Parts: sequence; structure tokens; C-alpha cells
Amino acid sequence: MKCRVCRGPAVIDIRRHNANFCQEHFLRYCRTQVEKTLKEFSMVKPGDRVLVAVSGGKDSLAVWDILLHLGYEATGLYVGLGLGEYYDVSGRHARRFAEERGLELIEVDIRGTYDIDVPTAASVTGRAPCSACGLSKRHVFDQATLAGDFDALVTGHNLDDEAAVLFGNVLHWQSDYLGRQQPVLPAGHGFPKKVKPLVRLGERETAAYCVLAGIDYLVEECPMAKGNKHLHYKAALNLIESESPGSKQAFYFGFLRNAVDLFSEQRTYSEPEEQRERTEPDDDVGMLRACEECGATTNSELCAFCRLVRSTAGTKPVPIAMTRKRN
Ligand code: AMP
Ligand code: ZN
Ligand code: ZN
Repeated sequence: MKCRVCRGPAVIDIRRHNANFCQEHFLRYCRTQVEKTLKEFSMVKPGDRVLVAVSGGKDSLAVWDILLHLGYEATGLYVGLGLGEYYDVSGRHARRFAEERGLELIEVDIRGTYDIDVPTAASVTGRAPCSACGLSKRHVFDQATLAGDFDALVTGHNLDDEAAVLFGNVLHWQSDYLGRQQPVLPAGHGFPKKVKPLVRLGERETAAYCVLAGIDYLVEECPMAKGNKHLHYKAALNLIESESPGSKQAFYFGFLRNAVDLFSEQRTYSEPEEQRERTEPDDDVGMLRACEECGATTNSELCAFCRLVRSTAGTKPVPIAMTRKRN
């Protein structure tokens, strides 16, 4: 196996591109793919200040590292969701990455700030844990990006994530979600710009990037995500991809090229993009106004997050093991 660029010994093959790379040229390939994505979708431009949501996993640490390599001023944001040991470990990875490079990492712990955590909120409200988690993260992401006056909020969603979410949204014809499934959401209606610069890289590539760039990341998946439908969609797409490399990329980028505009009319800003599961209708289309509690855009008196806080704060914390597996 020889590197496509230098013909030296390759360390990784990318079947969908029919290409092999040595360490140096693989790292360069990843950075070039991100640079191309940033330009193609007008995500961020040189000189922009970005806030990178980092979970301590491979994707978000890779995208933070790549943005720094590309010359961006990138601050990290870590959200403590109160998931016990898993989150202690994930926070340590995010912190260590920042400390080793002298970077700023903003930390928001939802237990300390709002007196809630994900297992307790899920248990009290009957929401799926991933839904309570997604809602809390999006709220903190929005507020921190606006408060820090950043040009964009960056997440580590990769090609596998986006293809799996698209697959689920198509299976159920979630037309509102389909309209929002873009790698960049512009700022507007009180929401900051949100971008996903890793959509051209698969998760095998982001993991390899971290290993080859010497980035120590949290390997385990979140304990509460077990049984999440999203994981089944990923497995189904992996089966197709192994028989026919390039299928995921063709599916996702074909959707962006040919179909997303057909759904964008139905898009709303009130319940942002990454929601994968939901057990109750949140803020659907309607009159938008400011949440009475936090000022976020919503169509009712309180935004979905503040409603979650209202019902959960003050109740006795529920350990993970007690949470119903309802994903
Ligand atoms: P997930 O929803 O867990 O698949 O994560 C998607 C993206 O959200 C990650 O790539 C990160 O950019 C971001 N993210 C997930 N968990 C956290 C967290 N605890 N703190 C900050 N960002 C996070
Ligand atoms: Zn090479
Ligand atoms: Zn609110």
C-alpha cells in the first residue's frame, strides 16, 4: 500500500476515494477536506472567531485541532451534562487538550448552572435521554456563542453522523428536520451561526486523525445512547458502505445538491437542527418571540429548555442506572 501523494508506505486507505496515505499526507488530506468544506459552504472565513463545542471525543477534538492548524482563533466549549463517570472522563480529555496547547476552554456545568442533569431531566419529564441531552446542549451552545460574540459555533458532526440522521429523517419523512439538515445554519431569529466542518470526513478518518496527530480522546460512547435508533441507522449504512464505498457520501451530498432546498421552506428556527429523536412536539412553527426566562427564540412563553428546567430543578437527582432506556 503506497501513499497517493509521495509513494511512501501508506498507513491508511480511504476506499471511497480509492486512495491510500502516509501519516503526513493523511493529516494534510483531512485539513484540506475541512478547508474545502469551510469555503464551499461559506462556514467561516479567515479572521473569524469560532467557538468549538468539544465533548472530549475524536470528532470535536479533531475539528478543534484542524481549525487551529488552518489558522483560526478557536475557543472550546465543554458542557457538563451530569452523566457520572463518563462525563468526568470526557471533560478531562477536553481540558487536557486545551491545557497542553494553552487554549481557552469555556465550561458550563448544567447541574451547577441550572440545577438539572440529563438523567434526572429525562426521568422527570419522560423524555428520551438523548432528547433531553440534545436540548440542553443546544441551549448552552446558543447562549455561549451569543454571549461571547463568536462568529460561529462549530460542532464535530461527521459524514457518518449526518448520513445517519438524514437516513432517519427520510425513513420517517421528517420534512421540517430535512429542511434544517444543512452543514451550515445562518445566524438569525436570535440564533447564532452553526457549522459542521467535518461533513466530508467519516468517523474512521476522524479517529485516525486523532491517533496520527497524537490527540488523546475518549473512545467510549455515551452510556445513555445505547439502543438509540441513530446507532441502528449507522450500522445499516455501514453495511451498504462496505459493499459499495462512497454510498454515504453520495447519499448526503446528493441530498444537499438535489433535495434540501425542496424542504427549506418548511424549516423553522425554533427547535434547532440536530434533534434526532423526540417524544413530544417542541416549539413548532408559529409566532416567534423571546423566552420570558432566558430570552431565547421560541413560540411559547418559555423555551423548551426553560420548561425542562422548570420541571426538573429542585427534584432529587436520579442516577443513570435508574433512567428508563427509551431512546
Ligand atoms: P453528539 O450529539 O454526542 O453526537 O455530538 C455532536 C457534537 O456535539 C460533537 O461533535 C461536539 O461538537 C458536540 N458535543 C457533544 N457533547 C458535548 C459536550 N458535552 N460539550 C460540548 N460539546 C459537545
Ligand atoms: Zn505521503
Ligand atoms: Zn428559555
